[in-house]
Formats: sequence, structure tokens, C-alpha cells
Amino acid sequence: MAASCLSCCANCWPRESGRVRSAASAEPCPAQSRRAICCGGFGLLCVSTTTTVLGPPRLLVAGAGIGGLALALAAARAGWQVQVCERAEQLGEVGAGVQLGPNATRVLQALGVWKALQPFTTVPQRVRVRHGGGGHSLAVLPLAEAATARWGSPYVSVHRADLHRVLLQTAQSHPMVQIETDAAVLDWMGGETGVVQKAGVAVRTTAGTLTGDALVLADGVASSLRLRALPAEPAPVATGHVAFRAVLPMAALPDGLERDGVTAWLAPRMHVVHYPIRGGDFLNIAAFVEVPVTDRERWPLHASSWDDAPTEALALREAVAPLCQPLQALVAAVPRWAQWPLRARPPVSSALQLAPEGIGPVALLGDAAHPMLPYLAQGAAMALEDAAELGRQLGQVTQHSRAVARERWQAVPLALQAYAQARAARVGRVQAASWRNGRIFHAAGLVAWGRDTALRWAGPRLMANDWLYGA
Ligand SMILES: Cc1cc2nc3c(=O)[nH]c(=O)nc-3n(C[C@H](O)[C@H](O)[C@H](O)COP(=O)(O)OP(=O)(O)OC[C@H]3O[C@@H](n4cnc5c(N)ncnc54)[C@H](O)[C@@H]3O)c2cc1C
Repeated sequence: MAASCLSCCANCWPRESGRVRSAASAEPCPAQSRRAICCGGFGLLCVSTTTTVLGPPRLLVAGAGIGGLALALAAARAGWQVQVCERAEQLGEVGAGVQLGPNATRVLQALGVWKALQPFTTVPQRVRVRHGGGGHSLAVLPLAEAATARWGSPYVSVHRADLHRVLLQTAQSHPMVQIETDAAVLDWMGGETGVVQKAGVAVRTTAGTLTGDALVLADGVASSLRLRALPAEPAPVATGHVAFRAVLPMAALPDGLERDGVTAWLAPRMHVVHYPIRGGDFLNIAAFVEVPVTDRERWPLHASSWDDAPTEALALREAVAPLCQPLQALVAAVPRWAQWPLRARPPVSSALQLAPEGIGPVALLGDAAHPMLPYLAQGAAMALEDAAELGRQLGQVTQHSRAVARERWQAVPLALQAYAQARAARVGRVQAASWRNGRIFHAAGLVAWGRDTALRWAGPRLMANDWLYGA
């Protein structure tokens, strides 16, 4: 009998916590004594033709980032047993600030993490757009109470490490969620049809093989698993845009800069965004610079962690040299920058890019599915929205008498497809809007003049993004 015989039937999963027993511990498969069809050790997973009542369905998640953890919570709340596999040995303090628009905070409230996160958030009073050359204000959009009143949920900023830690702790304390570190997902098998219809998915990780009813790839912008899921699609492209990030104590901030709001400075081929985080004790700064085409090979494509090596940020220092004094002073005040070459994809154009056909019950979520330029501050927000929607759809599997094997195995792929259908157009639109913002923010000459005029006359209306933040 093959080593992985006991992974063959879903009846084994709850008892085995989803882990395939080794040959050494092999015992007869309980399914065989339950009138279920057992693959006899040759296949991975097979469908019971009986009406055996199953335990909770089991979700495997590749990646314990923002999206993977949010999904773990959403699925567990929908009655699924969730196992998250994370490649990193440790989950720790990484990253810098992120803005969370009302669409993101709405999801965090629904997931039950908002109360724990709120003490770590900061409420920016406004978004102000400033001219990078002249330094003058072009437009202001009030936030704070105005944001909550308009969109029904707050607009906040937070350190990514705080957001991630709160999601992690909440997930870890949920009895239906298990998180394994040092467990990179390598590949999977599932969804084959043949003499014996097979269902579910068997996932190979560096820590062993796991089985489940569905697998979600949430392995981030540098996703290697996406290549396996969508082999015909090219890897994300280098955009030629480099992000320089820093967190500065407010006390070290030069004069002439706002401390209580989001400020965006626009200039040809670059822009800078800063906003308060951690209760206003720190300013998060992100500067985005287009590097000349000939220089692009200097910016590695492979960076995938949130903590890239510190850099002198020469390209940034050169870019701000002709700009206004407060902006130059801000860049000069930062002793260490981290750089992040930005990669992106063309916008999602089909639901099949989120739930591909013929690869088993597998879906993609977050940056793995739709990496985007951070020019609408929506990457994490889209990962959170994905998680909420997928959790909703997985809940359909646990409701409506899906405890019967055959029904469940039909329902899971339908739930993944419904998730993909519900999300594809929206994430594609947000990706496209992020690209467009990049062109507008970095415009020069007449186009920049037109942008500035439009901002002066209709700034708040142009910046409000009701389609994005509204319920
Ligand atoms: C400069 C910058 C500023 C940004 N600002 C904002 C903002 O203001 N607002 C906003 O909403 N978004 C922002 N974003 C985007 C946001 O951070 C990302 O979109 C978000 O983190 C994506 O979450 P994710 O879960 O998809 O991926 P990640 O959070 O990157 O998580 C992926 C996880 O998968 C793990 N992994 C990788 N491979 C494997 C494997 N084979 N097996 C198991 N685990 C694996 C990784 O270790 C990681 O833990 C910004 C991004 C950048 C670069």
C-alpha cells in the first residue's frame, strides 16, 4: 500500500487534522469500513458515494500575510476548519504604514478584529494634494468624521506590523484555525476525474503533505504558486517605479509639513505620500520614483519581503533636488530608506484568473491574484475584501445541508467560482485605477497643468472615490 493511502478519503481528514499519515503509522482506512469508496492507496482523494456525514470542511491557505490571515478568520467564522501554511520561519514585525480606506475597515469590523486593531490606528484629518515644485496646496478632501459619515466606516492609517499582528493573534485564538510556519507550499494535486471521481486537494509543503476540500493561494506579489495555477500567464512586470519607504519620529520632522493628515506631493515622474501612524508618534513616508529605462536592471525584480535592504536612495535624492524646500527637507531628514521595486500585472479581466479551471478546488486571493501599484492605497484592502467575499461563499458550503460528501464536493468548486465572479470586475477596476493614478500623479507639462486645474476646481469630488469606499 502506498505511503499516502490514508489520505484517500475525506472521512479521514477530521481525525487526522488533515495531515497525511506516514507509512509507518498506517492503519486501515476508516472509510473502508464505512461503505465509502476508498482509492486503495493509489489515488489521493476520492468521493464517497454514501451519505456519510462529514466533519467541517477543511480549507488550506498558502501564505499568512494580510489576505491569508483574513481569509482564515472569514472561513473559520463560516464553519470551516482552516490550516494556514506560511513559508517564513517566523511571523514578525515587517513593513511600514498602510492606509485603510472605509472599504477595508468595514471588512475588519465584520471579521471581529476592529476592536483589537483600533488602538493602533490613527485617524488622518484630511487628504491634501500639494504641488511638488511650488509646494502650494491643490486640493483637500476632509476625512475623520466626514469620512465615516460619507462612507459608513472610518478611514485610518496603521503600521502594517500592527495590522498583521492583530490578524494573527485573532486567527491563532480561533479554535478552527491552525497556522504552521516554516511550511512553504510547493504544489498540489486535486480535481482529477477518471474511473474514480476525485475531489478535494492534496497539498505538498516543506513540512509534509496536507489534504483539504479547497486550497487558496495567498502567497503575495511574488507568488510562485500562481505560475502553477496559471502557467500561460507571464510573471508580474517591472514597472520601472521604485518605492522608497521610511518611518520618521514626528519629533524629527522638519517644519512646513502637516502631521495630522495624508499629504500627497505630485511632481513629474515621481510623487511622495506621508501620513501619521502609531497614534501620531511617527510619520510614514513613501516616495515613488520612475527610474530611467536604462537603470531598470539596477532594481532587482525578486524583492518579495517587506524589509528590503536599506539604501542611500540616490534616485530619490536626485528626483527631489529641483522640487520645493519642504519636500527636500523631508527627504534629507530620513537617515535610512528601504527600497521596493514595484511590480504589477495588467488588470484582471476574467474570473478564471481568480479560480482557474482544471486545477482542482483552488482559488487565488490578494496580491497573488491581482498585484497592483500602491497608488490608490488598496492592495491590502482588496485582499481583505477578497477574504470577506470568499468567506461568504464558503459559508454557502457549510449551510444548506452540505454536510453530505457528494453535495459538498459539488458545492466547493461552485463557491470558488462564485467568489471569482463576484471579485474579478472590482479588483480589475481597482488595478486599472491604480495604474491611471500613477500616470496622473507623475504627469509633466500640459497634462500636469490640466490635472492641477481640475484639482483646484473639483478636487474633493475627484478624490472622493465613492465607488471604492462606499458600502
Ligand atoms: C510601498 C507600498 C505601500 C502600500 N500601501 C498600501 C496602503 O496604503 N493600503 C493598502 O491597502 N495596501 C497597500 N499596499 C499593498 C499591500 O501591502 C499588499 O497588497 C498586501 O500586503 C497584500 O497582502 P497579501 O496577503 O496578498 O500578501 P502578503 O501580505 O505579501 O503575504 C503573502 C505571504 O505569503 C507567504 N508566502 C510566499 N510564498 C509562500 C509559499 N510558497 N507558501 C507559503 N507561504 C508563502 C509570504 O511569506 C507572506 O507571508 C502597499 C504596498 C507597497 C509596496
